[in-house]
Amino acid sequence: MSETRLPAAVRDELLVVLGPSGLLDAPEALFSYRHDASVDEALPAAVCLPETTEAVARVLNIAAAAGLQVTPRGAGTGLSGGAVPQPGGLVLSLARMTTIREVDVANRRALVEPGVVNLQLSEHVAPHGLRFVPDPSSQKSCTIGGNVAENSGGPHCLRDGVTTNHVGGVEIVTIDGEVFELGGPCADPPGFDLRAAVIGSEGTLAVVTAAWVRLEPVPETVSTALALFERMDDAAATVSTIIGRGIIPAALEMMDQTVMGAVEAYAHVGFPDDVEAALIVEVDGLQEEVAELSATVEAICREGGAREVRRAATAEDRATIWRGRKEAFGAIGRVSPHFYVQDGVIPRTHLAEVLRLIGEIGKKHRLLIANVFHAGDGNLHPLILFDRREAGALERVKEAGREILEACVARGGTLTGEHGIGMEKIAFMGLLFDEPSLELMRTLKRALDPEERLNPRKAIPWPGLCKEGGRVGRDPAVLES
Ligand SMILES: Cc1cc2nc3c(=O)[nH]c(=O)nc-3n(C[C@H](O)[C@H](O)[C@H](O)COP(=O)(O)OP(=O)(O)OC[C@H]3O[C@@H](n4cnc5c(N)ncnc54)[C@H](O)[C@@H]3O)c2cc1C
Repeated sequence: MSETRLPAAVRDELLVVLGPSGLLDAPEALFSYRHDASVDEALPAAVCLPETTEAVARVLNIAAAAGLQVTPRGAGTGLSGGAVPQPGGLVLSLARMTTIREVDVANRRALVEPGVVNLQLSEHVAPHGLRFVPDPSSQKSCTIGGNVAENSGGPHCLRDGVTTNHVGGVEIVTIDGEVFELGGPCADPPGFDLRAAVIGSEGTLAVVTAAWVRLEPVPETVSTALALFERMDDAAATVSTIIGRGIIPAALEMMDQTVMGAVEAYAHVGFPDDVEAALIVEVDGLQEEVAELSATVEAICREGGAREVRRAATAEDRATIWRGRKEAFGAIGRVSPHFYVQDGVIPRTHLAEVLRLIGEIGKKHRLLIANVFHAGDGNLHPLILFDRREAGALERVKEAGREILEACVARGGTLTGEHGIGMEKIAFMGLLFDEPSLELMRTLKRALDPEERLNPRKAIPWPGLCKEGGRVGRDPAVLES
């Protein structure tokens, strides 16, 4: 990877705004900013760490004058390459903007800066009996800015919706350094909903410097069950049965045998090693309602072939089940040197068929694929295990990933449930959108960022890319770096 130095005059200007601790450009410091939690990487020229909206605007002004490309970044836990910098560009880290500017308990909302960590927000408002619903499994480290940019989901988004349903407005800075408020604290303001355009735009339209988030009451009662199935097909069919009977659980997650084995070896949460799959089903609400719902869910799981249904008896039991689920990616990291996470979505009724197909794709490419995912949403997360030191392994992994996504789209599904398009899936956008639709997206991008310097070549394919096939979705500029 080649190094690009920041021009001295630009460096001096940035130092005036950020101070010496707010600008990183030593090679060893840049190294950790070259990638997110996915597989691609590139070296920036510098990392800027502003602490205020005004400083963000001034950094963007300096970048504009110097013609530099800018990549916003939160905690770098993204799984589609969204925070991978442009070679020689600036990383604009929002990680030091960590103030919760206001908590309005009566109206159940808060104004928070983008560097606030997801879990810390819920912990901060918990004494008021409130929580922020979107709970990505990375919630101990990912930021609200990253959640907004990716329109993130999480196990508890099945019934209550993903980030866009929990953010009333955003303060943004455009690439030319102008500050705007889109939406706001009140629901449904008049005018175009530009807030919605920014949420999920993966840092390509604007830098988010604050968000008005909606807070929900912590439910009175929660019941969590772990249902163990000897056959994966039965577990998959049970997902559809639960929802088909009119029950939308707060969470409905699935794990396969490989994942449970890895979690058990690491976290010792009591997962058995002789079942093909497990469902985590959580219902919450008022006490009487939850008692009835959890009994119905248990009955449906048993009818569907569950060998055992373990209902958490205490808050500690419940936390143990969730620890097993939320630490699954980390646990897999202990059994395989590398893994690549896909994020396709399918209609729930195709779960069993597509899970079988994923197994076949793995065999064909000589790759072990583990599954842990938001089953209720039909949001698959196949974890393709590999060792990137093995020649050709990454190419086989990406090819398998492409085949999985094609299978999802062919069944009426989509390319991403929550991890975004980033740079990884950019070439596959043509599977879902025709060229005029892509051009409409580019028009919006150019309206806000005419020179295409804000997180360029992410999320929206450049003209011709999808036609060329772009088989692995990598930006040639990054390949050269
Ligand atoms: C173990 C693990 C589990 C995960 N589980 C889930 C899950 O359950 N659900 C889920 O949705 N995701 C999940 N993810 C993916 C990831 O955590 C989310 O996408 C998260 O929202 C990214 O937040 P971040 O702060 O790390 O953002 P980053 O990775 O730093 O950035 C992500 C994108 O947002 C942009 N961005 C960041 N901050 C800003 C800002 N302030 N303004 C504008 N653009 C910005 C970046 O340019 C980039 O395109 C998981 C990741 C890991 C590693």
